[in-house]
Amino acid sequence: MNIILLGPPGAGKGTQASRLVDERGMVQLSTGDMLRAAVKAGTPTGLKAKAVMEAGELVSDEIVSGIIGEALDDLKPETGVIFDGYPRTAAQAESLDVILSDRKRTLDHVIELEVDEDALVARITGRFTCAKCNEGYHDTFKQPKVAGVCDVCGSTEFKRRPDDNEETVRTRMTEYRAKTAPILPIYEARGLVRRVDGMADIKHVTEAIEAILDS
Ligand code: ADP
Ligand code: ADP
Ligand code: ZN
Repeated sequence: MNIILLGPPGAGKGTQASRLVDERGMVQLSTGDMLRAAVKAGTPTGLKAKAVMEAGELVSDEIVSGIIGEALDDLKPETGVIFDGYPRTAAQAESLDVILSDRKRTLDHVIELEVDEDALVARITGRFTCAKCNEGYHDTFKQPKVAGVCDVCGSTEFKRRPDDNEETVRTRMTEYRAKTAPILPIYEARGLVRRVDGMADIKHVTEAIEAILDS
């Protein structure tokens, strides 16, 4: 099973992907996470991507499609994949077709998380993650059970992304509308798109996605 989670910044792609990983043994491939790791490690890719990401613009199609291909090569063929934040342009969608067919994988579903744009800024500006295990949290919508302590690993250190500020979010939303939303019709024409109400509680969104995967 190979699925794409599609939706604007803050829609809940990462949150849902990690829940599916826990429950289904699938692997989450997040280009955002992989790029942030490259920036942190100071690799040539990271050096190219840093300023682009901080501005909320899109990293080049060649870079992201390259890292997705490499990541897939590290997986067993039978491991299911959740693509989180990729593809984001028509060129990336075309590359993904080639990347998948080269590896004899097929795309099963494209799940669009539908959200109100007004909610996204609040979601993004309240987002933080565990510095140790990367579990995602929110100041209002998903606080750790014990304040200041990660539910998963017990760490007391958290981090916020430099691009999770209101101004950059606006740029990222514009990029989504201009470059990412237009790839939906490509997948619609193939009958792959399933829509989920991303404004529901985190748990209910997961249930809706699982119903699609089990259908
Ligand atoms: P994306 O990966 O699409 O950018 P995230 O999964 O990181 O989005 O979610 C953005 C923020 O919103 C996080 O702080 C997360 O805890 C919170 N969040 C995710 N899904 C929901 C939801 N259904 N309701 C309320 N808050 C949510
Ligand atoms: P969010 O889900 O909150 O939009 P991501 O973590 O997916 O954020 O992405 C963060 C940044 O990384 C993007 O704003 C962009 O600069 C870069 N990025 C991630 N994935 C891609 C992609 N598929 N194509 C181009 N740039 C990407
Ligand atoms: Zn943790």
